[in-house]
Amino acid sequence: MDRVEVAIIGAGVVGLSVAASAAKQGRSLLVLERHEAFGRESSSRNSEVIHASIYYPPDSLKGRLCLEGNERIYRLCAEHGIAHANTGKLVVAWTEEQAAGLPDLLATARANGARGVRLVEGEEIRRLEPRVAAIAALHCPSSGVVDSHALMKHFETVARSRGAVFAYGVEAKAIDRRDGGFVVRVAEASGEPYEFWSRALVNSAGLESGRVAALCGIDEDEALYRIHYRKGVYFRAHRKLALYPRMLVYPFPPDRSTVGIHTVPDLAGGMRLGPHDSWSPSVDYGVDGSLLDLFLASCRPWLPFLEAEDLQPDMAGIQAKRYGPGEPVRDFVIREESDRGLLGLIDLIGIESPGLTASPAIGPHVARMVDEILG
Ligand SMILES: Cc1cc2nc3c(=O)[nH]c(=O)nc-3n(C[C@H](O)[C@H](O)[C@H](O)COP(=O)(O)OP(=O)(O)OC[C@H]3O[C@@H](n4cnc5c(N)ncnc54)[C@H](O)[C@@H]3O)c2cc1C
Repeated sequence: MDRVEVAIIGAGVVGLSVAASAAKQGRSLLVLERHEAFGRESSSRNSEVIHASIYYPPDSLKGRLCLEGNERIYRLCAEHGIAHANTGKLVVAWTEEQAAGLPDLLATARANGARGVRLVEGEEIRRLEPRVAAIAALHCPSSGVVDSHALMKHFETVARSRGAVFAYGVEAKAIDRRDGGFVVRVAEASGEPYEFWSRALVNSAGLESGRVAALCGIDEDEALYRIHYRKGVYFRAHRKLALYPRMLVYPFPPDRSTVGIHTVPDLAGGMRLGPHDSWSPSVDYGVDGSLLDLFLASCRPWLPFLEAEDLQPDMAGIQAKRYGPGEPVRDFVIREESDRGLLGLIDLIGIESPGLTASPAIGPHVARMVDEILG
């Protein structure tokens, strides 16, 4: 049986970042991805926002890795010519009640260490974004957008240059514990079965991460690893492009489980609005055009010039959440599972937003865990 030191299941932005950090000359590292190329799931169906770390509970993995990822992503982009824009962001309040909630949000942002976040009002908002209607806002200068495909390509290139091997069109189907490691049985696109042994196993399977942990013998419900699908739908603005804000503009968050429908300026000069979030029983990327009225009602209070003719359905993505409807928001899990008798298994579960921003920080974090396993 073939043997490797490290196997990574999933070539989304997180698995790729782990591969780039954990690969070393002389170390055998294999990345399995069931699709024919990297980044075909959540990592290519998102807002591509570089978050500043303003919403998360201080000391959460989301908050810490987002902040570190924010700094790392700008550095990577500058050093390797990855397309990005440090647009900055406004979180806007258009009612007195929302404005009264901004100081709390500011306090969370500061507790998280988000750089340069401050309250702005009246004239200053008009100077920053003249066509946005708001009575007060948080200004987050470190927010921006990144070309997620280019970021993933960068991680893949670095991993390959350090000797990592990528197996695309290969799905992990069964996992057994053997000889202090894991036997992974896979199905190739051709249907050919194949198995190999790996000393360390990184589960970075996104929407399937709970199920992959279950393949290793973990009870998904007991561990709170069961993944719930939260679908996000986007509309594209295709008229009046000159009127749209060049900054990211987010509404005052409607509740703790969502950031609300916001603007997403893209790097080609266009703009999307989204995501509209809803729980989904299955992975379904269909876009319901009848959401148009809801998009207009959500965004018109702060983008008053928006009209129905300006928007057309665009795309959808699905977030991997560790909580379902009505349950409390839960943090990322990044965990070596030796206390469950699974020495060498590293689970990454529920890597929802801000997973793209956090990815350049998650890679080195997991690579240190891999180094400890391999000794
Ligand atoms: C609508 C939406 C908006 C978002 N907006 C933002 C944002 O603006 N900023 C931000 O920072 N984050 C954002 N996110 C979150 C971000 O996109 C995710 O956190 C990130 O992409 C997760 O990456 P991943 O590698 O864990 O998962 P994925 O990209 O889903 O990759 C997992 C991979 O594992 C593969 N896989 C699964 N099972 C197997 C198996 N058994 N064998 C082989 N391969 C397998 C899958 O095919 C997939 O390619 C958003 C997400 C969504 C859906």
